[in-house]
Amino acid sequence: MIRALIETSLVDWDGKISMVLFVDKCNFMCPFCQNWELILHPEKFPVIQWKEIAGVLQRKKGWIDGVVLTGGEPFVYTKEIRELAENIKKLNLGLKVDTNGAYPEALKELIDKKLLDYVALDVKAPIDERYYSAAGKKINLENVRESIRLLLGNVVDYEFRTTCVPGIIDEGAIDEIGQAIKGARKWVLQVFVPNNAYKEEYRKELDLSYAPLLKKFRVCAQKYVSNTILRGKV
Ligand code: SF4
Repeated sequence: MIRALIETSLVDWDGKISMVLFVDKCNFMCPFCQNWELILHPEKFPVIQWKEIAGVLQRKKGWIDGVVLTGGEPFVYTKEIRELAENIKKLNLGLKVDTNGAYPEALKELIDKKLLDYVALDVKAPIDERYYSAAGKKINLENVRESIRLLLGNVVDYEFRTTCVPGIIDEGAIDEIGQAIKGARKWVLQVFVPNNAYKEEYRKELDLSYAPLLKKFRVCAQKYVSNTILRGKV
């Protein structure tokens, strides 16, 4: 299940020092995914057992604030993630999950059990057929909507994240996503990094005319979510 880890990260949970654990499966196959090798060829990476993770956490005790579960999609392993979350909380550490929103019930369960401190939920495109291009396949849009509703209910701290990928995100798309997440606590517009994208056609150097658009996207996004930030090098 866990096949990669970063012992100490300053960039995966804003304001926190975290350990990052990477899950090796995902139910989406986004053409711009950066971790596609882990998802498509997990056998290339060694399985990391809890004992090893716990050993690192013990060694880092007092230095890190919490653990970030990312991937892949952590909730593909619903039961195992619950157990992992319980183990992490027993160590009095914070827990953040990065999710694509496809598993609202599993997300709700962890929130209800007070096992989660922060959720980063991807909103990859306006929530209609265009989402299928962003997710790389036809997915259940109602699950994404339900996950958004759950977070807008303010039961846990969270952010929505949109990776600004040319061909998927333009100002109109930002406007539509903004309407869907209006009033959210935080919206992060992420700068797309093409180098290691899953699909060849997304690995091209970014068109120079796209970068300045991100600042415009932010202004548009702030009509709906005042706390909108840009993440990454513009
Ligand atoms: S949801 Fe995330 S991990 Fe899964 S394919 Fe898309 S970008 Fe990759």
